[in-house]
Amino acid sequence: MTQGETTLVVENTAIAPVVGPEIANGHLVIEGDRITAVGGGPAPAVPAHARRIDGTGCLATPGLVNTHHHLYQWASQGLAQEATLFEWLVTLYPIWARMDAEIVRGAAGAALAWLAKSGCTTASDHHYIFPRGRGDLFAAEIDAARTVGLRFHPCRGSMDRGRSDGGLPPDEVVESLDDILAETEKAIDAYHDPAPGSMLRVAVAPCSPFSVSTELLTRSAELARDRGVRLHTHLAETLDEEEHCLEQFGVTPVEYLDRLGWLGPDVWLAHAIHLHDADVARLGETGTGVAHCPSSNARLGAGIARVCDLLRAGVPVGLGVDGAASGEMTPLAGEVRMAMLMQRARYGPGALTARQALELGTLGGARCLGRQDEIGSLEVGKLADVALWRIDGFHAAIDDPVCALVYGRTPPLARLLVGGATVVEDDELRTASQDTLGAAGAQAHRRLMRGVR
Ligand SMILES: [Zn+2]
Repeated sequence: MTQGETTLVVENTAIAPVVGPEIANGHLVIEGDRITAVGGGPAPAVPAHARRIDGTGCLATPGLVNTHHHLYQWASQGLAQEATLFEWLVTLYPIWARMDAEIVRGAAGAALAWLAKSGCTTASDHHYIFPRGRGDLFAAEIDAARTVGLRFHPCRGSMDRGRSDGGLPPDEVVESLDDILAETEKAIDAYHDPAPGSMLRVAVAPCSPFSVSTELLTRSAELARDRGVRLHTHLAETLDEEEHCLEQFGVTPVEYLDRLGWLGPDVWLAHAIHLHDADVARLGETGTGVAHCPSSNARLGAGIARVCDLLRAGVPVGLGVDGAASGEMTPLAGEVRMAMLMQRARYGPGALTARQALELGTLGGARCLGRQDEIGSLEVGKLADVALWRIDGFHAAIDDPVCALVYGRTPPLARLLVGGATVVEDDELRTASQDTLGAAGAQAHRRLMRGVR
């Protein structure tokens, strides 16, 4: 893959830039890894050597941003199919305890290829299980992201509160506080790139209030702020979690995090479903982001997040497919649609427009990851992370291109660019063999499940 060495021109395409007016027929010019022009009609004078993409029949949008995932879960899909979150976790923890670096590499490659094929250009991941002596699991997922070619925000997750300490996970899948802090620092030193245009940024991400100690939350926040990286965790996913927090700490999950100094513009929280009005207001006041994962939340019967209320309160809201074990084969573009439909199911047909849903999947996600100045919209000076959707063919019976993208089945991708480099073309992954990655994902599943069933 050449990272945008030449000038690239996309012409004759509809453009939904997310920021600024939509364009019925226009152009994008990309030089290196940046957008240098966006506008109506043909491109202005460009060098003769420029590569040209004819976008006839297409809609260009910013590449989608995935704000919450567990890539390793590609290897444990289809299990505990009718379980609540806590039942599902109790079933899956012992299976995940068998994971090694090879399983993570296979699962992550398949999951990231699947994301790319659904329009994702930036993916975050939350990896929180590190069984001892099984190789470098964090390095394995980073290797997979480099292979697929996506911008990557891996979160070094952790759990230190096993069953013997009143937590939910079995003791064999938790680490000691000292090991977690040391390994997290090592991951930041080895991989975090704060430079503009970065392809990889590391975040610090203790798993959830019911699987980590108060001290781990506090020390993680200190570490993240000391190193200038972001903080992530699961929060308020189920009422069981709220009961746990009320019982153990005497406060709601949001109040618990607030008490620990965990709310702020450098933090984004997965799910945030069961919120009181005061919690919503507090997330807004502090600029704390939310990763909304509608399919996973529906699959586990966890509930429907108050996305409309969160947006009204000024909370940055992005979308996430969540791990494939609770959102089997969820495509990210499908989450844009699902977010819109679920808000309407709860609040009525005017609750969330197609354009608002697209904004959640792009600029909202970029805000969660602290990248809103670089990605999430098609504007001059931003990184050339672009999805070019094919809205001719069956989709051409809808006149509004954004409606054609969001309302129905996701259209095929004519092109997916990350920093100007082609990752998907004609709906096929181009950076690596999607057949090979798919087979490696299935092999990871077989290896993980060997002897379990
Ligand atoms: Zn999750």
